[in-house]
Amino acid sequence: MTQPVEIEIHVGHYGDGTGARGYVDEVQYARKFMKRIYEILIANKVPATYYEDKISKNQTQNINHLVAYHNQDRNGLIVSGHLNSTSPLTERPIGGEVLYSTQNELAKNVAKALSDASGLINRGAKYRNDIGVLTKTYEPSILIEFGFVNSKKDIELLDQNLEKICQAIAKVLAAVIGHPFSTPVKEEGNKVETTKNTLDATGKAEAKKLFGKLYEKGVFSEDHSDKIEQYSDGKILSLLIAFLSRTV
Ligand SMILES: [Zn+2]
Repeated sequence: MTQPVEIEIHVGHYGDGTGARGYVDEVQYARKFMKRIYEILIANKVPATYYEDKISKNQTQNINHLVAYHNQDRNGLIVSGHLNSTSPLTERPIGGEVLYSTQNELAKNVAKALSDASGLINRGAKYRNDIGVLTKTYEPSILIEFGFVNSKKDIELLDQNLEKICQAIAKVLAAVIGHPFSTPVKEEGNKVETTKNTLDATGKAEAKKLFGKLYEKGVFSEDHSDKIEQYSDGKILSLLIAFLSRTV
């Protein structure tokens, strides 16, 4: 196995509602975390890719599709994002875990980072030999189960600590491929004083275009392009600063 040179992130399953459902929809929820981890990696100049299967029609197709997607190259570290589920719905915490077939150490480290950053119970690294994206791929791989969709407490902890969790996991992943980083990226969209929106029509059109592109490129996890009218000058300025600070 050659040393991976990029982080290949994907969201499990094949669209909203195709994974587990409980207090949240697994796919929607995992997407938020995986997208943010990807953004943080890119912001820190760590080579990374982000993928979602929007083609498959069932779970078998989905696994084959993801395996084929990753097997196009052999230079990455695969990180699959999921949430677990049992029944019934419960108030009690259950916890996060990380599945692996060869990456025991990494799985352990990511599970610990997830738990340390959030207070989630650490269910640790779990060996699995029956998961396609782990066993049918050539690249080293892990599958993160951020928590349980049927645990109210897990979702609460995940909600409250999304940024901390994503920063912590991104850091562990980056170190594995030899791109350690230490500066946390500033959260976008801080509160601003200005309430006026004084951009003229040309400025608004340009801003719309720019924020559309930044969303497509994954710089921002949210599409701000349609909200230019509602945004204050200060909000737009703070988004621009957040963007610029990631490029220098
Ligand atoms: Zn899943």
